[in-house]
Order: sequence, then C-alpha cells, then structure tokens
Amino acid sequence: MTLPATVAVDVGGTKIRAGSVIDGELAHVRSVPTPAIAGARAVLDTIAEVAAAVIAETSGSRGAESGGRSSAGSGGLAGGGDGSGSDFVWRIGIGAAGVIDPVTGTVVSATDSLPGWTGTDLVAELTARTGLPVRVVNDVHAHALGEAAVGASNDTRSSLLVAAGTGIGSGFITDGHLLTGRNSAAGHIGHVPVAAAAGLDCPCGGTGHVEAIASGPAILATYRRLVRGSADPDLVQSERAAQGQTHESAPATPSDSPTPTPASANAPVPTNTRELAAAASAGEELALRAFDIGARALGSALGGIVNVLSPEVVVIGGGLAEMDDAWWGPLHEAFTAELIPAASGAPLVKAELGQDAALIGAAGLWNDEPGQKH
Ligand SMILES: [Zn+2]
Repeated sequence: MTLPATVAVDVGGTKIRAGSVIDGELAHVRSVPTPAIAGARAVLDTIAEVAAAVIAETSGSRGAESGGRSSAGSGGLAGGGDGSGSDFVWRIGIGAAGVIDPVTGTVVSATDSLPGWTGTDLVAELTARTGLPVRVVNDVHAHALGEAAVGASNDTRSSLLVAAGTGIGSGFITDGHLLTGRNSAAGHIGHVPVAAAAGLDCPCGGTGHVEAIASGPAILATYRRLVRGSADPDLVQSERAAQGQTHESAPATPSDSPTPTPASANAPVPTNTRELAAAASAGEELALRAFDIGARALGSALGGIVNVLSPEVVVIGGGLAEMDDAWWGPLHEAFTAELIPAASGAPLVKAELGQDAALIGAAGLWNDEPGQKH
C-alpha cells in the first residue's frame, strides 16, 4: 500500500525549515542555516539533504510503527513502486524567498539575502537532486495558503495574509486561488506608498513605501532617530507628525548615527527589533512611539488595500504580530480609520500557525487540482 507524503520546505535567507506532511499532519520538522553566502548551488544541495533527512526520519518512524519497509531505504529518494512494501510516494512542496513563478518553478528575482538565487530553476534542480516531483511558490504566498487551509483564514472564500517582520509581504487568496499576478510579483504590500514614509529610502530602491517606516528594521531606525532627536525638538516634532521628511536612509548606518542613548540612562540600548519590543513592553516612551508610528503607517496602508480587495479577513503574521497592544492598538486604529463605509468592520486578526504556516501551505500545493501548478 502506498500513501502520498510531502516534504514541505520553507527556504528563507537565514534558515531552511522542512518537515513531512502526511494526511495534513506536519511532523519531523527540522531547521538548518541557509548557506546563502555560498550561492544557489549550495542552497539547493542543502534543501536536498534536508529533504532526504526528513524522508529518512519519517520512513524510519513509520517503519518502526508498522514493521514495514520505507522507500528511503531503497537507494534513491524516489523509492516506491519496487514491490517491496514501500509505504510512501514522496513529493516536495516548497515556499521559497524571492519572486517565484509557480508555473515554471523558477526564481524570477531575489534580493541580496540570497546571492545568485535569481534565475534558479528550483523544480529542475531539485528534481535532479532528489528524483522527486517538486512544486514551489513564494514563501509568503505559502504562508497565506497555510493559514487559509487550516489557520486563521480557514473557511473563508477570500483572505489577505500579511507577513510583517524584517520585510512586509502578503498573499491574497480568493476562491482557493492564490493571486500571483504579472511576473508572479503580486503581494508586495510593503511597497505601497504612505505619507508617514515620505522621503525614507525603502529596501526595494524606491522611497516612501510603507516597509520603509513599518518593518522591524525601519521601526528600529525610527527609534534611533527619535533618540538622537530627543535633544532636538524640531526633529522630534517632525517624527510626531509622522512625516519622516528628513531624507535619511531608513536603516541608519553606523557612520551617520552615533550610538543612541536610551531615554533611561540605566536601560540597555536596544540594538535589534526584539530588544526594542522589550523596551516598548517595559513602557519606554520612545520605543512605544517608534512602534506606534510604524503600526499606524501599516494599518493605514492595509485599510486602503482592503478598500480595494475587500477580503473576508486580513491575517497578520510575522515577527511584529507577536507584539502586544503597543503595536496592535495603533494598527487597528489606523486600519479602521481608513476603511470606507462599505468595508467597515473588516476583520484584522493574528495568524495562528506561526512558522508552520509556510510548510503547511507548501505541502498544500499538492492538493490543488492537477495542472494548476507544476
Ligand atoms: Zn519599496
């Protein structure tokens, strides 16, 4: 007897997570660092190794349970069909960083976090390495599919998943279909212009986009400006107006930003978003203000998007979604204020599946009707 089984893989710029999904159950999850600096070939090799490890562990545990033989022990990853009692027919589903064409399985474009990633034919390269069929989408798109399958947007016909963390991305699903758009570029919600980001450089190369004021690194940059400006009432005033019209780069560089001093001389200086979140939770005024500015900008942008798309639910995931009311409060307020009457009451909720969403969504690529994605 054979059973369909999927190795689900989430390929990010810093780590690769993978697990097995059988009958909708995610198990045997493992995580390894992404050898990004070593280039695309090393990343592909690592994905294949992790997939093999997941298959071996899953098959081993099933074999122990049932006493049956596993396909992973038969030489190649493909296994199965050898008449020796193989349990699983394996395939691979991937959510990968970068703009991904799910039809060709190719990386259309990627940022510097994965050098050489652009142009990589993920399906061909990984099928060659594993002997298994492969389907792939963008990682945030996989996240959206996962939440829609069994998470916060389960049982809705349309949903918008927003991943807010180091960057800000999204996936829009309607009637079970992921909107990928021209050049597979749909979902770049971090690059909607908002007034609060006017003049701030965005990682995409443009200026004034919401990611430039609302991402984790952007909020940290705002905090640094606020700390620097605490001795400069004019600068603070401009931040309070949330205009950001100082024409500085969003991520302050060491050369132009002396180490900021915290409001309380005894408190440690936050050097990353996590520490800044802790400072905000502890009530530090400038930390709270930096999160407030970022959250309001994102809430405003999302309200505008909801006026266009009218999804049944907006689901927020990513690191910033783990914040408390210091972030969620102003996010909700600005979101609600932006909605037209016809869109009023649109729900904005927290994602439910955490990091597993992308794995579940990637595995779900194999649940689609044949021919939609290859
Ligand atoms: Zn941008």
